[in-house]
Amino acid sequence: MARIVMKFGGTSMAGTERIRRVANIVRRQQAAGHEVAVVVSAMAGETDRLVNFCREANALYDPAEYDVVVASGEQVTSGLLALTLQSLGCKARSWLGWQMPINTVEAHSKARVQTIDAPELLDSLGRGEIAVIPGFQGVSSENRITTLGRGGSDTSAVAVAAAIGADRCDIYTDVDGVYTTDPRIVAKARKQKAVTYEEMLELASVGAKVLQTRSVGLAMKEGVRIQVLSSFLGDDAPPADDLPGTLIVSDTEMDAILEEGEMERQHVTGIAHDKNEAKIILTRVPDKPGAVANIFEPLAGASINVDMIIQNVGRDKGETDVTFTVPQTDLARAQALLEDQRGNIGFNRIITDDHIAKISVVGVGMKSHAGVASTMFKSLADRAINIQAITTSEIKVSVIIDEDETELAVRVLHTAYGLDAAE
Ligand code: ASP
Ligand code: MG
Repeated sequence: MARIVMKFGGTSMAGTERIRRVANIVRRQQAAGHEVAVVVSAMAGETDRLVNFCREANALYDPAEYDVVVASGEQVTSGLLALTLQSLGCKARSWLGWQMPINTVEAHSKARVQTIDAPELLDSLGRGEIAVIPGFQGVSSENRITTLGRGGSDTSAVAVAAAIGADRCDIYTDVDGVYTTDPRIVAKARKQKAVTYEEMLELASVGAKVLQTRSVGLAMKEGVRIQVLSSFLGDDAPPADDLPGTLIVSDTEMDAILEEGEMERQHVTGIAHDKNEAKIILTRVPDKPGAVANIFEPLAGASINVDMIIQNVGRDKGETDVTFTVPQTDLARAQALLEDQRGNIGFNRIITDDHIAKISVVGVGMKSHAGVASTMFKSLADRAINIQAITTSEIKVSVIIDEDETELAVRVLHTAYGLDAAE
Protein backbone atom coordinates (compact mmCIF):
# COMPACT_ATOMS: atom_id res chain seq x y z
CA MET A 1 0.00 0.00 0.00
CA ALA A 2 1.18 3.47 -0.80
CA ARG A 3 -0.06 6.94 0.02
CA ILE A 4 -0.70 8.98 -3.10
CA VAL A 5 -1.67 12.58 -3.80
CA MET A 6 -3.44 13.07 -7.13
CA LYS A 7 -3.84 16.57 -8.59
CA PHE A 8 -6.25 17.51 -11.37
CA GLY A 9 -6.13 20.82 -13.25
CA GLY A 10 -8.93 23.04 -14.47
CA THR A 11 -9.44 21.33 -17.83
CA SER A 12 -10.04 18.00 -16.09
CA MET A 13 -12.52 19.60 -13.67
CA ALA A 14 -14.52 21.60 -16.24
CA GLY A 15 -18.06 20.31 -15.78
CA THR A 16 -19.76 17.39 -14.06
CA GLU A 17 -19.11 15.05 -16.98
CA ARG A 18 -15.34 15.50 -16.68
CA ILE A 19 -15.46 15.37 -12.91
CA ARG A 20 -17.08 11.96 -13.26
CA ARG A 21 -14.08 10.79 -15.32
CA VAL A 22 -11.73 12.15 -12.67
CA ALA A 23 -13.72 10.36 -9.98
CA ASN A 24 -13.28 7.10 -11.86
CA ILE A 25 -9.53 7.56 -12.09
CA VAL A 26 -9.41 8.32 -8.36
CA ARG A 27 -11.61 5.35 -7.50
CA ARG A 28 -9.38 2.95 -9.44
CA GLN A 29 -6.26 4.35 -7.78
CA GLN A 30 -7.76 3.72 -4.36
CA ALA A 31 -9.05 0.30 -5.39
CA ALA A 32 -5.44 -0.66 -6.19
CA GLY A 33 -4.96 -0.60 -2.42
CA HIS A 34 -3.71 2.91 -1.71
CA GLU A 35 -4.54 5.84 0.54
CA VAL A 36 -5.57 8.67 -1.74
CA ALA A 37 -5.80 12.45 -1.30
CA VAL A 38 -6.92 14.50 -4.29
CA VAL A 39 -6.11 18.17 -4.90
CA VAL A 40 -8.26 19.99 -7.46
CA SER A 41 -8.25 23.24 -9.44
CA ALA A 42 -11.28 25.35 -10.22
CA MET A 43 -13.05 24.64 -13.51
CA ALA A 44 -11.05 26.00 -16.46
CA GLY A 45 -11.72 29.72 -16.93
CA GLU A 46 -13.46 30.07 -13.57
CA THR A 47 -10.63 31.82 -11.73
CA ASP A 48 -10.32 34.38 -14.56
CA ARG A 49 -14.05 35.00 -14.33
CA LEU A 50 -13.84 35.55 -10.57
CA VAL A 51 -10.85 37.89 -10.91
CA ASN A 52 -12.90 39.96 -13.35
CA PHE A 53 -15.76 40.24 -10.89
CA CYS A 54 -13.31 41.67 -8.34
CA ARG A 55 -12.08 44.24 -10.85
CA GLU A 56 -15.61 45.26 -11.70
CA ALA A 57 -16.61 45.55 -8.05
CA ASN A 58 -13.67 47.69 -7.05
CA ALA A 59 -10.67 48.44 -9.25
CA LEU A 60 -8.52 48.92 -6.15
CA TYR A 61 -9.64 45.67 -4.61
CA ASP A 62 -8.58 44.63 -1.15
CA PRO A 63 -6.43 41.49 -1.63
CA ALA A 64 -8.01 39.82 1.41
CA GLU A 65 -11.48 40.05 -0.16
CA TYR A 66 -10.07 39.12 -3.58
CA ASP A 67 -8.89 35.87 -1.96
CA VAL A 68 -12.36 35.21 -0.57
CA VAL A 69 -13.79 35.52 -4.07
CA VAL A 70 -11.19 33.66 -6.14
CA ALA A 71 -10.77 30.77 -3.67
CA SER A 72 -14.40 29.86 -4.25
CA GLY A 73 -13.73 28.18 -7.60
CA GLU A 74 -11.85 25.35 -5.90
CA GLN A 75 -14.46 25.05 -3.16
CA VAL A 76 -17.02 24.23 -5.83
CA THR A 77 -14.93 21.59 -7.60
CA SER A 78 -13.79 19.89 -4.39
CA GLY A 79 -17.38 19.53 -3.20
CA LEU A 80 -18.51 18.27 -6.60
CA LEU A 81 -15.75 15.69 -6.76
CA ALA A 82 -16.57 14.44 -3.24
CA LEU A 83 -20.24 14.16 -4.24
CA THR A 84 -19.36 12.29 -7.43
CA LEU A 85 -17.07 9.88 -5.59
CA GLN A 86 -19.87 9.19 -3.12
CA SER A 87 -22.20 8.48 -6.02
CA LEU A 88 -19.72 5.81 -7.15
CA GLY A 89 -19.90 4.21 -3.73
CA CYS A 90 -16.62 5.61 -2.35
CA LYS A 91 -16.21 7.21 1.05
CA ALA A 92 -15.05 10.75 0.35
CA ARG A 93 -15.08 14.18 1.93
CA SER A 94 -13.70 17.63 1.20
CA TRP A 95 -11.14 19.42 3.37
CA LEU A 96 -11.09 23.17 2.81
CA GLY A 97 -7.90 25.14 3.37
CA TRP A 98 -9.03 26.34 6.81
CA GLN A 99 -10.20 22.89 7.87
CA MET A 100 -6.96 20.93 7.54
CA PRO A 101 -5.60 23.62 8.02
CA ILE A 102 -3.13 24.74 5.34
CA ASN A 103 -1.37 27.59 7.16
CA THR A 104 0.11 30.30 4.97
CA VAL A 105 1.77 33.65 5.42
CA GLU A 106 -0.45 36.70 5.42
CA ALA A 107 0.48 37.86 1.87
CA HIS A 108 -2.95 37.84 0.24
CA SER A 109 -3.15 36.75 -3.42
CA LYS A 110 0.43 35.43 -3.27
CA ALA A 111 0.62 33.51 -0.03
CA ARG A 112 3.19 30.82 0.75
CA VAL A 113 2.45 27.63 2.63
CA GLN A 114 4.10 27.48 6.04
CA THR A 115 2.76 24.37 7.71
CA ILE A 116 0.01 21.86 7.15
CA ASP A 117 -1.53 20.13 10.12
CA ALA A 118 -2.82 16.83 8.92
CA PRO A 119 -3.47 14.45 11.84
CA GLU A 120 -7.24 14.36 11.25
CA LEU A 121 -6.75 13.99 7.53
CA LEU A 122 -4.38 11.09 8.11
CA ASP A 123 -6.92 9.41 10.38
CA SER A 124 -9.54 9.84 7.72
CA LEU A 125 -7.28 8.34 5.04
CA GLY A 126 -6.60 5.46 7.40
CA ARG A 127 -10.34 4.77 7.57
CA GLY A 128 -10.39 4.39 3.79
CA GLU A 129 -11.87 7.81 3.07
CA ILE A 130 -10.75 9.73 0.02
CA ALA A 131 -9.71 13.28 0.92
CA VAL A 132 -10.61 15.96 -1.61
CA ILE A 133 -8.66 19.17 -1.10
CA PRO A 134 -9.25 22.43 -2.96
CA GLY A 135 -5.94 23.65 -4.38
CA PHE A 136 -4.80 27.27 -4.39
CA GLN A 137 -6.20 28.15 -0.94
CA GLY A 138 -4.99 28.34 2.61
CA VAL A 139 -5.62 30.27 5.81
CA SER A 140 -3.55 33.05 7.37
CA SER A 141 -2.59 33.47 11.03
CA GLU A 142 -5.31 36.13 11.10
CA ASN A 143 -7.75 33.34 10.29
CA ARG A 144 -8.60 34.66 6.83
CA ILE A 145 -8.63 32.82 3.50
CA THR A 146 -5.49 33.22 1.40
CA THR A 147 -4.59 32.09 -2.14
CA LEU A 148 -1.20 30.98 -3.42
CA GLY A 149 -0.94 32.91 -6.68
CA ARG A 150 -2.15 31.87 -10.12
CA GLY A 151 -1.40 28.27 -10.98
CA GLY A 152 -0.99 27.64 -7.25
CA SER A 153 -2.77 24.33 -6.96
CA ASP A 154 0.32 22.48 -8.19
CA THR A 155 2.04 23.93 -5.14
CA SER A 156 -0.90 22.93 -2.91
CA ALA A 157 -0.58 19.34 -4.14
CA VAL A 158 3.14 19.17 -3.46
CA ALA A 159 2.72 20.81 -0.03
CA VAL A 160 0.02 18.28 0.93
CA ALA A 161 2.18 15.42 -0.35
CA ALA A 162 5.06 16.63 1.82
CA ALA A 163 2.82 17.05 4.86
CA ILE A 164 1.35 13.56 4.71
CA GLY A 165 4.57 11.87 3.60
CA ALA A 166 3.08 10.70 0.31
CA ASP A 167 4.99 8.17 -1.74
CA ARG A 168 4.13 10.04 -4.92
CA CYS A 169 2.38 13.19 -6.09
CA ASP A 170 0.71 12.48 -9.43
CA ILE A 171 -0.07 15.63 -11.40
CA TYR A 172 -2.69 14.89 -14.04
CA THR A 173 -2.58 17.49 -16.79
CA ASP A 174 -3.25 18.01 -20.49
CA VAL A 175 0.15 16.70 -21.59
CA ASP A 176 1.21 13.14 -20.84
CA GLY A 177 4.65 13.93 -19.51
CA VAL A 178 7.76 16.05 -19.88
CA TYR A 179 9.21 15.93 -23.38
CA THR A 180 12.70 16.55 -24.69
CA THR A 181 11.18 19.59 -26.37
CA ASP A 182 7.81 20.95 -27.50
CA PRO A 183 6.29 18.09 -29.56
CA ARG A 184 4.33 20.65 -31.60
CA ILE A 185 7.64 21.88 -32.99
CA VAL A 186 9.62 18.66 -33.18
CA ALA A 187 7.66 15.57 -34.20
CA LYS A 188 10.53 13.40 -32.98
CA ALA A 189 10.43 14.81 -29.44
CA ARG A 190 10.51 12.04 -26.85
CA LYS A 191 8.67 11.69 -23.58
CA GLN A 192 11.16 11.40 -20.73
CA LYS A 193 10.91 8.62 -18.19
CA ALA A 194 12.43 10.86 -15.52
CA VAL A 195 14.02 14.28 -15.07
CA THR A 196 15.64 15.75 -11.97
CA TYR A 197 14.20 18.60 -9.90
CA GLU A 198 17.01 20.89 -11.01
CA GLU A 199 16.35 20.18 -14.66
CA MET A 200 12.63 20.68 -14.25
CA LEU A 201 13.20 23.98 -12.45
CA GLU A 202 15.35 25.26 -15.28
CA LEU A 203 12.95 23.96 -17.92
CA ALA A 204 9.97 25.53 -16.15
CA SER A 205 11.72 28.86 -15.82
CA VAL A 206 12.53 28.98 -19.52
CA GLY A 207 9.12 28.27 -20.92
CA ALA A 208 8.28 24.58 -20.50
CA LYS A 209 5.03 25.37 -18.69
CA VAL A 210 4.02 21.99 -17.36
CA LEU A 211 4.05 22.84 -13.65
CA GLN A 212 4.07 26.00 -11.59
CA THR A 213 7.81 26.63 -11.06
CA ARG A 214 7.32 27.15 -7.35
CA SER A 215 5.86 23.69 -6.93
CA VAL A 216 9.03 22.13 -8.33
CA GLY A 217 11.18 24.16 -5.93
CA LEU A 218 9.07 22.97 -3.03
CA ALA A 219 9.18 19.35 -4.21
CA MET A 220 12.97 19.53 -4.38
CA LYS A 221 13.19 21.01 -0.89
CA GLU A 222 10.81 18.46 0.59
CA GLY A 223 11.90 15.49 -1.50
CA VAL A 224 8.42 14.91 -2.95
CA ARG A 225 8.44 12.57 -5.94
CA ILE A 226 6.24 13.97 -8.69
CA GLN A 227 4.78 12.17 -11.67
CA VAL A 228 3.37 14.25 -14.54
CA LEU A 229 0.81 12.32 -16.54
CA SER A 230 -2.19 12.74 -18.81
CA SER A 231 -5.69 13.18 -17.47
CA PHE A 232 -7.14 12.13 -20.83
CA LEU A 233 -7.33 8.47 -19.99
CA GLY A 234 -9.58 5.82 -21.35
CA ASP A 235 -12.21 4.65 -18.89
CA ASP A 236 -10.38 1.35 -18.48
CA ALA A 237 -6.90 2.82 -17.92
CA PRO A 238 -5.02 1.10 -15.07
CA PRO A 239 -3.86 3.04 -11.96
CA ALA A 240 -0.73 5.12 -12.47
CA ASP A 241 1.52 2.86 -10.38
CA ASP A 242 3.42 1.55 -13.38
CA LEU A 243 4.54 5.14 -13.97
CA PRO A 244 3.25 5.91 -17.45
CA GLY A 245 4.16 9.61 -17.19
CA THR A 246 7.40 11.42 -16.37
CA LEU A 247 8.89 11.23 -12.87
CA ILE A 248 10.49 14.31 -11.36
CA VAL A 249 12.99 13.08 -8.82
CA SER A 250 16.23 13.72 -6.92
CA ASP A 251 19.66 13.19 -8.45
CA THR A 252 20.07 10.04 -6.36
CA GLU A 253 16.86 8.47 -7.55
CA MET A 254 17.76 9.47 -11.10
CA ASP A 255 21.07 7.61 -10.76
CA ALA A 256 19.20 4.54 -9.55
CA ILE A 257 16.84 4.71 -12.51
CA LEU A 258 19.83 5.03 -14.84
CA GLU A 259 21.54 2.08 -13.23
CA GLU A 260 18.56 -0.11 -13.91
CA GLY A 261 19.80 0.33 -17.44
CA GLU A 262 16.55 1.77 -18.65
CA MET A 263 18.29 4.74 -20.15
CA GLU A 264 21.57 6.51 -20.54
CA ARG A 265 22.24 9.83 -18.94
CA GLN A 266 22.19 12.45 -21.65
CA HIS A 267 24.27 15.58 -21.48
CA VAL A 268 21.22 17.54 -22.56
CA THR A 269 17.80 16.54 -21.29
CA GLY A 270 15.59 19.17 -22.78
CA ILE A 271 15.38 22.16 -25.10
CA ALA A 272 12.99 24.96 -24.22
CA HIS A 273 12.00 28.12 -25.98
CA ASP A 274 10.42 31.28 -24.69
CA LYS A 275 9.04 34.03 -26.91
CA ASN A 276 7.85 36.19 -24.05
CA GLU A 277 10.95 38.24 -23.49
CA ALA A 278 12.11 41.54 -24.91
CA LYS A 279 15.58 43.00 -25.25
CA ILE A 280 16.69 46.46 -24.15
CA ILE A 281 20.01 48.03 -25.10
CA LEU A 282 21.22 51.18 -23.38
CA THR A 283 24.07 52.76 -25.34
CA ARG A 284 26.95 54.78 -23.97
CA VAL A 285 26.39 54.18 -20.29
CA PRO A 286 29.24 55.56 -18.13
CA ASP A 287 31.71 52.75 -17.42
CA LYS A 288 32.12 53.38 -13.69
CA PRO A 289 31.16 51.81 -10.37
CA GLY A 290 27.47 52.16 -9.61
CA ALA A 291 26.34 52.66 -13.20
CA VAL A 292 24.78 49.23 -13.54
CA ALA A 293 23.16 49.52 -10.12
CA ASN A 294 21.53 52.76 -11.29
CA ILE A 295 19.93 50.85 -14.16
CA PHE A 296 18.67 47.82 -12.31
CA GLU A 297 17.61 49.31 -8.98
CA PRO A 298 14.59 51.14 -10.40
CA LEU A 299 13.58 48.04 -12.36
CA ALA A 300 13.79 45.86 -9.26
CA GLY A 301 11.82 48.47 -7.34
CA ALA A 302 9.04 48.12 -9.91
CA SER A 303 9.18 44.28 -9.62
CA ILE A 304 10.40 43.94 -13.20
CA ASN A 305 12.32 40.70 -13.54
CA VAL A 306 15.54 41.12 -15.47
CA ASP A 307 16.85 37.89 -16.95
CA MET A 308 19.96 38.13 -19.11
CA ILE A 309 22.43 40.96 -18.65
CA ILE A 310 25.42 41.73 -20.82
CA GLN A 311 27.77 44.61 -20.38
CA ASN A 312 29.90 45.13 -23.42
CA VAL A 313 33.61 45.76 -23.18
CA GLY A 314 34.07 49.46 -22.41
CA ARG A 315 34.81 51.81 -25.28
CA ASP A 316 37.57 54.38 -25.15
CA LYS A 317 35.70 57.34 -23.63
CA GLY A 318 34.81 55.46 -20.44
CA GLU A 319 31.48 54.33 -21.88
CA THR A 320 29.86 50.98 -22.47
CA ASP A 321 26.64 49.45 -23.84
CA VAL A 322 24.42 47.41 -21.53
CA THR A 323 22.01 44.83 -22.97
CA PHE A 324 19.40 42.95 -20.95
CA THR A 325 16.06 41.20 -21.25
CA VAL A 326 12.75 41.70 -19.44
CA PRO A 327 9.34 40.03 -19.84
CA GLN A 328 7.62 41.44 -22.92
CA THR A 329 4.65 42.50 -20.81
CA ASP A 330 6.94 44.76 -18.76
CA LEU A 331 8.77 46.32 -21.71
CA ALA A 332 6.76 49.56 -21.90
CA ARG A 333 6.98 50.06 -18.16
CA ALA A 334 10.72 49.37 -18.12
CA GLN A 335 11.28 51.79 -20.96
CA ALA A 336 9.33 54.57 -19.23
CA LEU A 337 11.21 53.99 -15.97
CA LEU A 338 14.57 54.14 -17.68
CA GLU A 339 13.66 57.31 -19.60
CA ASP A 340 12.67 58.76 -16.26
CA GLN A 341 16.10 57.92 -14.83
CA ARG A 342 18.01 59.08 -17.89
CA GLY A 343 19.74 61.90 -15.97
CA ASN A 344 20.72 59.60 -13.14
CA ILE A 345 21.92 56.67 -15.27
CA GLY A 346 23.42 58.72 -18.07
CA PHE A 347 22.94 56.88 -21.35
CA ASN A 348 22.61 57.95 -24.95
CA ARG A 349 19.89 55.80 -26.52
CA ILE A 350 17.39 53.09 -25.58
CA ILE A 351 17.00 50.45 -28.26
CA THR A 352 14.28 47.85 -27.72
CA ASP A 353 13.38 44.66 -29.56
CA ASP A 354 10.51 42.37 -28.67
CA HIS A 355 10.96 40.17 -31.71
CA ILE A 356 13.34 37.81 -29.93
CA ALA A 357 13.24 34.31 -28.50
CA LYS A 358 15.26 32.65 -25.80
CA ILE A 359 16.37 29.11 -26.56
CA SER A 360 17.73 27.06 -23.67
CA VAL A 361 19.38 23.68 -23.47
CA VAL A 362 19.16 22.06 -20.05
CA GLY A 363 20.74 18.97 -18.50
CA VAL A 364 22.52 17.97 -15.29
CA GLY A 365 24.90 15.98 -17.50
CA MET A 366 26.54 19.29 -18.45
CA LYS A 367 28.12 19.52 -15.03
CA SER A 368 30.51 16.75 -15.91
CA HIS A 369 30.73 17.07 -19.64
CA ALA A 370 32.46 19.80 -21.61
CA GLY A 371 31.43 20.96 -25.04
CA VAL A 372 27.67 21.37 -24.61
CA ALA A 373 27.79 25.12 -25.21
CA SER A 374 30.11 24.87 -28.17
CA THR A 375 27.85 22.28 -29.81
CA MET A 376 25.00 24.76 -29.43
CA PHE A 377 26.90 27.66 -30.94
CA LYS A 378 28.28 25.57 -33.80
CA SER A 379 24.90 24.04 -34.68
CA LEU A 380 23.22 27.44 -34.77
CA ALA A 381 26.08 28.94 -36.77
CA ASP A 382 25.82 26.15 -39.34
CA ARG A 383 22.24 27.29 -39.98
CA ALA A 384 23.29 30.97 -40.04
CA ILE A 385 21.26 31.69 -36.91
CA ASN A 386 22.73 34.73 -35.20
CA ILE A 387 23.19 34.70 -31.42
CA GLN A 388 22.44 38.05 -29.79
CA ALA A 389 23.14 37.20 -26.18
CA ILE A 390 24.23 34.22 -24.09
CA THR A 391 23.84 33.20 -20.45
CA THR A 392 24.79 30.02 -18.70
CA SER A 393 24.22 28.31 -15.39
CA GLU A 394 25.70 25.05 -14.19
CA ILE A 395 23.06 23.03 -16.02
CA LYS A 396 21.73 25.43 -18.66
CA VAL A 397 22.89 27.43 -21.67
CA SER A 398 20.50 30.05 -23.05
CA VAL A 399 20.80 32.22 -26.12
CA ILE A 400 18.71 35.02 -27.56
CA ILE A 401 17.94 34.81 -31.28
CA ASP A 402 15.52 36.33 -33.76
CA GLU A 403 12.00 35.12 -32.98
CA ASP A 404 11.44 34.00 -36.59
CA GLU A 405 14.19 31.40 -36.17
CA THR A 406 12.76 29.77 -33.03
CA GLU A 407 11.39 26.61 -34.62
CA LEU A 408 14.43 26.05 -36.79
CA ALA A 409 16.78 26.50 -33.85
CA VAL A 410 14.85 24.08 -31.64
CA ARG A 411 14.82 21.41 -34.36
CA VAL A 412 18.49 21.80 -35.17
CA LEU A 413 19.50 21.54 -31.52
CA HIS A 414 17.22 18.58 -30.84
CA THR A 415 19.04 16.69 -33.57
CA ALA A 416 22.48 17.98 -32.60
CA TYR A 417 22.20 16.62 -29.05
CA GLY A 418 20.96 13.26 -30.25
CA LEU A 419 17.49 13.68 -28.78
CA ASP A 420 15.44 12.72 -31.86
CA ALA A 421 13.34 9.59 -31.39
CA ALA A 422 14.38 6.65 -33.56
CA GLU A 423 12.26 6.29 -36.71
N1 ASP B 1 -7.48 28.09 -10.14
C1 ASP B 1 -6.23 28.76 -9.90
C2 ASP B 1 -5.77 29.44 -11.17
O1 ASP B 1 -6.40 29.34 -12.19
C3 ASP B 1 -5.20 27.84 -9.36
C4 ASP B 1 -4.83 26.67 -10.24
O2 ASP B 1 -5.65 26.19 -11.01
O3 ASP B 1 -3.70 26.19 -10.15
O4 ASP B 1 -4.78 30.11 -11.15
MG1 MG C 1 -1.96 24.70 -13.87
